[in-house]
Amino acid sequence: MAARCTIGNPRAEVIAGMTTGADVLIPSSDIQEKVREIGARISEDYRGKKPLFVGVLRGAVVVLADLMRNVDLECEIDFMEVSSYGQGRTSSGVVRILKDLEEDITNRHVLIVEDIIDTGLTLSYLHDLLLTRKPASLEICALLSKPSRRQVAIEVKYVRFEVPDVFVVGYGIDYAGAHRNLPDILALELEAAN
Ligand code: IMP
Repeated sequence: MAARCTIGNPRAEVIAGMTTGADVLIPSSDIQEKVREIGARISEDYRGKKPLFVGVLRGAVVVLADLMRNVDLECEIDFMEVSSYGQGRTSSGVVRILKDLEEDITNRHVLIVEDIIDTGLTLSYLHDLLLTRKPASLEICALLSKPSRRQVAIEVKYVRFEVPDVFVVGYGIDYAGAHRNLPDILALELEAAN
Protein backbone atom coordinates (compact mmCIF):
# COMPACT_ATOMS: atom_id res chain seq x y z
CA MET A 1 0.00 0.00 0.00
CA ALA A 2 1.42 3.39 -0.92
CA ALA A 3 1.90 5.65 2.07
CA ARG A 4 -0.27 8.73 2.07
CA CYS A 5 2.04 11.70 2.30
CA THR A 6 0.68 15.12 2.98
CA ILE A 7 3.11 17.72 1.80
CA GLY A 8 2.61 21.37 1.11
CA ASN A 9 2.30 20.95 -2.61
CA PRO A 10 1.49 24.21 -4.39
CA ARG A 11 -0.27 22.24 -7.13
CA ALA A 12 -3.00 21.32 -4.67
CA GLU A 13 -4.13 24.94 -4.85
CA VAL A 14 -4.93 24.42 -8.53
CA ILE A 15 -7.89 22.28 -7.60
CA ALA A 16 -8.85 24.01 -4.39
CA GLY A 17 -11.93 25.57 -5.93
CA MET A 18 -13.60 22.22 -6.62
CA THR A 19 -12.64 20.24 -3.57
CA THR A 20 -12.15 20.57 0.14
CA GLY A 21 -8.51 19.56 -0.26
CA ALA A 22 -5.94 17.43 -1.99
CA ASP A 23 -2.94 15.54 -0.71
CA VAL A 24 -0.08 14.11 -2.69
CA LEU A 25 -0.63 10.38 -2.52
CA ILE A 26 2.22 9.34 -4.82
CA PRO A 27 4.91 11.86 -5.71
CA SER A 28 6.23 12.05 -9.24
CA SER A 29 9.65 10.70 -8.22
CA ASP A 30 8.07 7.46 -6.91
CA ILE A 31 6.03 7.08 -10.10
CA GLN A 32 9.10 7.49 -12.29
CA GLU A 33 11.05 4.94 -10.24
CA LYS A 34 8.23 2.40 -10.62
CA VAL A 35 7.97 3.13 -14.37
CA ARG A 36 11.64 2.26 -14.79
CA GLU A 37 11.20 -0.92 -12.75
CA ILE A 38 8.19 -2.16 -14.71
CA GLY A 39 9.74 -1.09 -18.03
CA ALA A 40 12.72 -3.32 -17.22
CA ARG A 41 10.45 -6.26 -16.32
CA ILE A 42 8.44 -5.87 -19.52
CA SER A 43 11.65 -5.65 -21.55
CA GLU A 44 12.71 -9.01 -20.10
CA ASP A 45 9.30 -10.67 -20.41
CA TYR A 46 8.75 -9.64 -24.04
CA ARG A 47 12.31 -10.03 -25.31
CA GLY A 48 12.18 -10.84 -29.07
CA LYS A 49 8.39 -10.49 -29.24
CA LYS A 50 7.56 -6.95 -30.49
CA PRO A 51 4.54 -6.36 -28.22
CA LEU A 52 1.60 -4.08 -28.97
CA PHE A 53 0.75 -1.74 -26.09
CA VAL A 54 -2.93 -0.84 -26.06
CA GLY A 55 -3.57 2.38 -24.14
CA VAL A 56 -7.07 2.92 -22.80
CA LEU A 57 -8.00 6.51 -23.57
CA ARG A 58 -7.86 8.92 -22.15
CA GLY A 59 -6.38 8.24 -18.73
CA ALA A 60 -3.59 5.92 -19.87
CA VAL A 61 -1.94 8.43 -22.22
CA VAL A 62 0.65 9.63 -19.70
CA VAL A 63 1.50 6.23 -18.27
CA LEU A 64 1.78 4.70 -21.75
CA ALA A 65 4.06 7.50 -22.94
CA ASP A 66 6.39 7.00 -19.98
CA LEU A 67 6.23 3.23 -20.10
CA MET A 68 7.17 2.88 -23.76
CA ARG A 69 10.21 5.09 -23.24
CA ASN A 70 11.38 2.77 -20.48
CA VAL A 71 11.04 -0.38 -22.52
CA ASP A 72 14.17 -1.56 -24.24
CA LEU A 73 12.67 -3.46 -27.18
CA GLU A 74 10.82 -2.94 -30.43
CA CYS A 75 7.16 -2.27 -29.69
CA GLU A 76 4.05 -0.67 -31.19
CA ILE A 77 1.15 1.23 -29.68
CA ASP A 78 -2.56 1.52 -30.34
CA PHE A 79 -5.51 2.96 -28.44
CA MET A 80 -9.05 2.16 -27.44
CA GLU A 81 -11.51 4.58 -25.93
CA VAL A 82 -14.27 3.31 -23.72
CA SER A 83 -16.95 4.88 -21.63
CA SER A 84 -17.91 2.94 -18.53
CA TYR A 85 -19.43 5.44 -16.18
CA GLY A 86 -23.12 6.22 -16.15
CA GLN A 87 -24.17 8.52 -13.36
CA GLY A 88 -21.81 9.68 -10.63
CA ARG A 89 -18.45 8.08 -9.92
CA THR A 90 -19.42 4.45 -9.79
CA SER A 91 -18.85 2.19 -12.73
CA SER A 92 -22.11 1.19 -14.37
CA GLY A 93 -20.66 -2.04 -15.72
CA VAL A 94 -22.02 -1.08 -19.14
CA VAL A 95 -19.02 -0.43 -21.37
CA ARG A 96 -19.37 1.44 -24.64
CA ILE A 97 -16.57 1.33 -27.22
CA LEU A 98 -16.02 4.91 -28.39
CA LYS A 99 -12.87 4.09 -30.37
CA ASP A 100 -11.68 0.67 -31.42
CA LEU A 101 -8.15 -0.50 -32.28
CA GLU A 102 -6.60 0.30 -35.65
CA GLU A 103 -4.43 -2.83 -35.53
CA ASP A 104 -5.37 -6.44 -36.11
CA ILE A 105 -4.22 -8.16 -32.91
CA THR A 106 -4.47 -11.74 -34.14
CA ASN A 107 -1.27 -13.55 -33.06
CA ARG A 108 0.13 -10.37 -31.49
CA HIS A 109 1.51 -10.09 -27.97
CA VAL A 110 -0.85 -7.49 -26.51
CA LEU A 111 -0.41 -5.56 -23.28
CA ILE A 112 -3.38 -3.45 -22.20
CA VAL A 113 -2.21 -0.30 -20.38
CA GLU A 114 -4.78 1.27 -18.07
CA ASP A 115 -4.62 4.18 -15.64
CA ILE A 116 -6.62 2.81 -12.72
CA ILE A 117 -8.59 -0.30 -11.91
CA ASP A 118 -11.49 0.36 -9.60
CA THR A 119 -14.35 -2.18 -9.77
CA GLY A 120 -12.51 -3.97 -12.60
CA LEU A 121 -15.64 -4.02 -14.77
CA THR A 122 -14.16 -1.94 -17.59
CA LEU A 123 -10.96 -3.96 -17.91
CA SER A 124 -12.74 -7.25 -17.52
CA TYR A 125 -14.98 -6.34 -20.46
CA LEU A 126 -12.05 -5.10 -22.57
CA HIS A 127 -9.93 -8.12 -21.77
CA ASP A 128 -12.70 -10.54 -22.78
CA LEU A 129 -13.40 -8.57 -25.95
CA LEU A 130 -9.74 -8.57 -27.06
CA LEU A 131 -9.38 -12.27 -26.26
CA THR A 132 -12.02 -13.04 -28.91
CA ARG A 133 -9.60 -11.57 -31.48
CA LYS A 134 -7.09 -14.34 -30.75
CA PRO A 135 -3.93 -12.51 -29.67
CA ALA A 136 -0.82 -14.64 -29.04
CA SER A 137 -0.88 -13.33 -25.46
CA LEU A 138 -2.90 -10.75 -23.55
CA GLU A 139 -1.77 -9.14 -20.29
CA ILE A 140 -2.71 -6.06 -18.29
CA CYS A 141 -0.56 -3.26 -16.90
CA ALA A 142 -2.20 -0.73 -14.58
CA LEU A 143 -0.74 2.33 -12.95
CA LEU A 144 -3.05 2.13 -9.94
CA SER A 145 -5.34 -0.46 -8.45
CA LYS A 146 -7.96 -0.12 -5.72
CA PRO A 147 -8.24 -3.76 -4.57
CA SER A 148 -10.89 -2.98 -1.94
CA ARG A 149 -13.30 -1.80 -4.66
CA ARG A 150 -13.02 -4.85 -6.93
CA GLN A 151 -16.30 -6.43 -8.12
CA VAL A 152 -14.82 -8.92 -10.58
CA ALA A 153 -11.68 -11.01 -10.35
CA ILE A 154 -9.13 -9.82 -12.86
CA GLU A 155 -5.51 -10.81 -13.27
CA VAL A 156 -3.24 -7.81 -13.59
CA LYS A 157 0.33 -8.82 -14.35
CA TYR A 158 1.96 -5.42 -13.87
CA VAL A 159 0.52 -3.13 -11.19
CA ARG A 160 2.46 -0.11 -10.15
CA PHE A 161 0.68 1.01 -6.99
CA GLU A 162 -2.17 -0.25 -4.87
CA VAL A 163 -4.16 2.60 -3.35
CA PRO A 164 -6.98 2.84 -0.81
CA ASP A 165 -10.54 3.78 -1.72
CA VAL A 166 -9.92 7.46 -2.44
CA PHE A 167 -10.62 9.52 -5.55
CA VAL A 168 -7.35 10.29 -7.29
CA VAL A 169 -6.23 12.66 -10.03
CA GLY A 170 -2.99 13.50 -11.81
CA TYR A 171 -0.52 11.68 -14.08
CA GLY A 172 -3.22 11.25 -16.72
CA ILE A 173 -6.14 10.66 -14.34
CA ASP A 174 -8.92 13.24 -14.33
CA TYR A 175 -11.77 14.68 -12.36
CA ALA A 176 -14.43 15.99 -14.75
CA GLY A 177 -11.81 16.20 -17.51
CA ALA A 178 -9.29 18.22 -15.50
CA HIS A 179 -5.99 17.66 -13.66
CA ARG A 180 -4.54 15.05 -16.01
CA ASN A 181 -1.42 17.19 -16.39
CA LEU A 182 -0.38 17.09 -12.72
CA PRO A 183 2.89 15.13 -12.41
CA ASP A 184 2.04 13.68 -8.97
CA ILE A 185 -0.98 11.58 -8.04
CA LEU A 186 -3.24 13.46 -5.66
CA ALA A 187 -6.05 12.18 -3.45
CA LEU A 188 -9.03 14.50 -3.61
CA GLU A 189 -11.38 15.19 -0.78
CA LEU A 190 -14.52 15.79 -2.78
CA GLU A 191 -17.22 18.04 -1.37
CA ALA A 192 -20.11 15.84 -2.49
CA ALA A 193 -18.86 12.36 -3.24
CA ASN A 194 -21.57 10.10 -4.69
P1 IMP B 1 -13.72 0.35 -13.24
O1 IMP B 1 -14.49 -0.21 -14.38
O2 IMP B 1 -14.62 0.58 -12.05
O3 IMP B 1 -12.50 -0.43 -12.87
O4 IMP B 1 -13.31 1.82 -13.67
C1 IMP B 1 -12.09 2.15 -14.20
C2 IMP B 1 -12.14 3.57 -14.68
O5 IMP B 1 -12.80 4.39 -13.73
C3 IMP B 1 -10.75 4.16 -14.81
O6 IMP B 1 -10.22 3.93 -16.10
C4 IMP B 1 -11.01 5.62 -14.56
O7 IMP B 1 -11.37 6.27 -15.74
C5 IMP B 1 -12.18 5.65 -13.61
N1 IMP B 1 -11.79 5.83 -12.21
C6 IMP B 1 -11.83 4.92 -11.22
N2 IMP B 1 -11.37 5.42 -10.06
C7 IMP B 1 -11.01 6.69 -10.33
C8 IMP B 1 -10.41 7.74 -9.54
O8 IMP B 1 -10.11 7.62 -8.34
N3 IMP B 1 -10.16 8.91 -10.20
C9 IMP B 1 -10.46 9.11 -11.51
N4 IMP B 1 -10.99 8.16 -12.29
C10 IMP B 1 -11.27 6.96 -11.71
